[in-house]
Amino acid sequence: MSQEKVKQKELFLSVVPKSYLLGIINNKKYLRDELKEMLEFISHKKIINPKRSLNNVSHQILIKLFIEYEILTLEETKDLYLQFRDNKNPIFYLYKLQDEIKEDLKSLKTKLNDLFKTVQLDKEHNFIQTEKEFEPKKRDLLYKYEEFTLINIKLLEKNTILEVSFEYLERIDYLSKNYIPKSVYDLKSGFFWFDKNNQLLIIKCQNTAINEAIISLLGNFFKTKYWKFSLRKEIVDEIFDRKEMIKNSLIASQNTDPNLFNSMVIKDIEFEKKAQNPQFKFLFEYERRSSSYRMDIEGFTNKVKVVIAEYGKISLVGKSLKINLYRKWLINLLIEILEIHENFIKNNDISIYIKSSDFIERTALYEKIKNNEARTKLYELIEKIVVLKENPTVRNINFFFPMNIGYNFSEFVIPYPNLRCSNDDCNATLLCPNKGCESYKFEIKKDIRKRRYYLKCSKCKAKITEDHNLECIDNHKVNFKLDESIDYILHPSLKIEINQIFKELNLAYEIDNNVELFYIRENKLYRKEELNKFIYKWDELPIFQEIPKIEELTDTNKKAQARRITEVLEKCNKRKGECRNCHLKDKKEEICLLWIFASYSNGQAHPHTGTEFGDFEFPQSFTTGLENIIGIAKSYGKKPTENQNPQKIFDVDFGLLTFKSNDNLLEQFFQLCMEGTVRFIMVVSGKEIDTGLKNALFEIARWKQKKFLIITPKELIPIFSYYFANLVNQ
Ligand SMILES: [Zn+2]
Ligand SMILES: [Zn+2]
Ligand SMILES: [Zn+2]
Repeated sequence: MSQEKVKQKELFLSVVPKSYLLGIINNKKYLRDELKEMLEFISHKKIINPKRSLNNVSHQILIKLFIEYEILTLEETKDLYLQFRDNKNPIFYLYKLQDEIKEDLKSLKTKLNDLFKTVQLDKEHNFIQTEKEFEPKKRDLLYKYEEFTLINIKLLEKNTILEVSFEYLERIDYLSKNYIPKSVYDLKSGFFWFDKNNQLLIIKCQNTAINEAIISLLGNFFKTKYWKFSLRKEIVDEIFDRKEMIKNSLIASQNTDPNLFNSMVIKDIEFEKKAQNPQFKFLFEYERRSSSYRMDIEGFTNKVKVVIAEYGKISLVGKSLKINLYRKWLINLLIEILEIHENFIKNNDISIYIKSSDFIERTALYEKIKNNEARTKLYELIEKIVVLKENPTVRNINFFFPMNIGYNFSEFVIPYPNLRCSNDDCNATLLCPNKGCESYKFEIKKDIRKRRYYLKCSKCKAKITEDHNLECIDNHKVNFKLDESIDYILHPSLKIEINQIFKELNLAYEIDNNVELFYIRENKLYRKEELNKFIYKWDELPIFQEIPKIEELTDTNKKAQARRITEVLEKCNKRKGECRNCHLKDKKEEICLLWIFASYSNGQAHPHTGTEFGDFEFPQSFTTGLENIIGIAKSYGKKPTENQNPQKIFDVDFGLLTFKSNDNLLEQFFQLCMEGTVRFIMVVSGKEIDTGLKNALFEIARWKQKKFLIITPKELIPIFSYYFANLVNQ
């Protein structure tokens, strides 16, 4: 037999349990002397009792015996290899599919077979569609994992379980002589079970990257979301006997004593008993990361060592574990866990429930919050929103939300400055530190490098980037802390994402986006219901009620008006009292918004003088009473370039204002909302405003109880059309 074949046999046999190999030899019924001679030859030792010696030889010697005396053919050893290779110390990753799969497993069997023929792993270890003639070796770059192939699909348990076995190659890099980097591919195998009745997917495979590739491919294939079980202490303790715990990996819980060890591992068969001792009380400060048990599993004579990791993985330790037996055990275990999940909901243990799967970790929201501490905050936020919803009379709840966390939520919160005097009951606003400035209006800016916010005086533009001594308007000197000077309104997009999480996790909660507001103020989360109407449509304004709508205009007209918007001025050059004469008299191309609104309101619009943030104002009489509307104007600005995401409206490219980038509109709007005398605000914009920014403005308006309407290019078109046709020459 060639050296290669010998090595092959040796590797094949290495996965076969010793007891199984002994069984084969016993079945061969060798004569006593024959066996004695064989053993003496292999072990170079004198053998007295061959039967007993055989039972005591090492696995290694036994394999030598098989090879030397060709007890099995190469084919037979290969069969054993395929039978046993996945049985040694198997590690399982446990997933739940969200939606029921209607299709029966027989047809799924065929479809999955076809599916895996048309995909291959890419550089990032994701499955991608491939051409039929896929030739990985032609690439220059060798991927970490190659040639993923299904080798067998079986229906089990009266066609309720599908077992899919696969192989793939894993690259191993090494340095050869003279430090030349080289690599070889190692054959790996695994399988997964799909339990249709319980929507469970159990993957046995060592590489987490492969697990994730499989589950995401199947999630797409089944068109369902999925999550991985998180085997938290609260769940594990309900199922496993703590007295059988032999090893415990602990990690210090967040936000506790900084003097604790970060993590530690305790090995002791009597862990549970000893941990009761008061001197180990500090152990309660730790969370469990993984724990090992000795378990009785039906069908096994001895206890099996089982390792449970919070991460969602269960490992069994042993060489000859029988697949069928532990499959039943695992599935029953998962069903039990699902029942425990249900109970968490029933008992309102929302905090534990949302942590008992990695569902939230798989959401786009979690993905967008880059910082781990902030991600942990997300769980707490959801939990506290539930508490506030459960207790409608409770106005607020403690919610520590420092600036570094707020910064990491910046896509989902609207930060606003809250600089208050801490002197006794003063609570007055603090003033700009710049001598002589006296402004108490600040803008929040982002320091991208330091990943934090800072404040900027709206008037003198002085920056406050660190703690300061500031004065309040009553001249108290206060030790101002930057970290405590910013509060937040939850952006509607965050409410939408959280609603999605409630829905997907079958939690019977829903934030009513049109009624409920949440904000974080001085480390407390507030919930507020706002039933009054604050948001108006442009044609609810009496001055616009009668004019033709955009649908009634001709295409030529719409295009002409769209072009006119590009000429709108933000503030008329001659606003100081003279504006009414500016239009079409000096420069034909200049269109003054103030003039247009003045015409519509019979000359009642005039430049706004009350605050520095409004551009003009005019009165409107509603059925509910007279309102003085303060307008903020944003001009068309420059024609947007291709990479500024131009918005085409009737052949004209418009710029786009977003929550992130909005020419200071958000800031201006916020400041105007803070004015007690302002009741009704209108934003007129020569640029498009995206939903994210619109929703932020709506939320601020509702939060400060300001009536509000937005006019964007699509609304300006009918307004301009009517103006230029009917009002311009009056
Ligand atoms: Zn004060
Ligand atoms: Zn200032
Ligand atoms: Zn003007």
